[in-house]
Amino acid sequence: CGIVGYIGTQIATDVLMSGLEKLEYRGYDSAGLATVWEGQINYLRAKGKLYNLRDKLSQVEMPAQIGIGHTRWATHGKPEEYNAHPQLDPYGRVAVVQNGIIENYRELREELKGKGYEFKSDTDTEVIPHLISEFLSHLSKPEPGSPSVFFEAVRLAVKRLDGAFAIAVLCADYPNELIVARQQAPLSIGLGQGEFFCASDTPALVPYTQAVVSLDNGEMARLTPLGVEIYSFDGERLNKKPRILNWSP
Ligand code: GLU
Repeated sequence: CGIVGYIGTQIATDVLMSGLEKLEYRGYDSAGLATVWEGQINYLRAKGKLYNLRDKLSQVEMPAQIGIGHTRWATHGKPEEYNAHPQLDPYGRVAVVQNGIIENYRELREELKGKGYEFKSDTDTEVIPHLISEFLSHLSKPEPGSPSVFFEAVRLAVKRLDGAFAIAVLCADYPNELIVARQQAPLSIGLGQGEFFCASDTPALVPYTQAVVSLDNGEMARLTPLGVEIYSFDGERLNKKPRILNWSP
């Protein structure tokens, strides 16, 4: 029901938890977050209120400076921990949070099962990390004009999805990249000084920055510690100017 993402110099989980709190009013039945640290995806998921997630977080070390977070309003699959986001690929290398509905998830699930992919949740979302993993295993170098193999794998996966969705994606092998995409579900990007944010809603960004770029349908972005690049789903680089909100935090 809400997604957040962070890349920069702060402890990512602090920023993610504060963003998720700002998105709370959208309603949710479970929550989760993922980071990349020392070449691994680390993730936590909890059913119920955010304090359940906060409780789990207080028991672990998650010092990473990149991460994604989610509050879920279940549409496909019961509100249980195994259906909460992030959803991961079978190798635990790709983590995805999704707001929305993937309409063609049944076909994709059958196709991926035919290729040997196993599914651990009942969500429509789980096809996304599996698809990305499948593209990652076939791509050896980025297409001309494409910034990275990870970006390209997410782009090709997104092109296979029907429905209304916003996603944020991490890959353990690309610790300095956060990829997001939007199709008929809101997603804004916040531009800070050496740190970048994304969220379903601008209020989640306001405590950190007033410079915001809202993605339009069919757009995706690559957030790195150096900046934000915006592309169409066809891989064309777009030049979008941020607007300055002038809201008080
Ligand atoms: N359809 C997805 C699910 O059920 C995402 C729901 C949401 O937007 O929270 O997991």
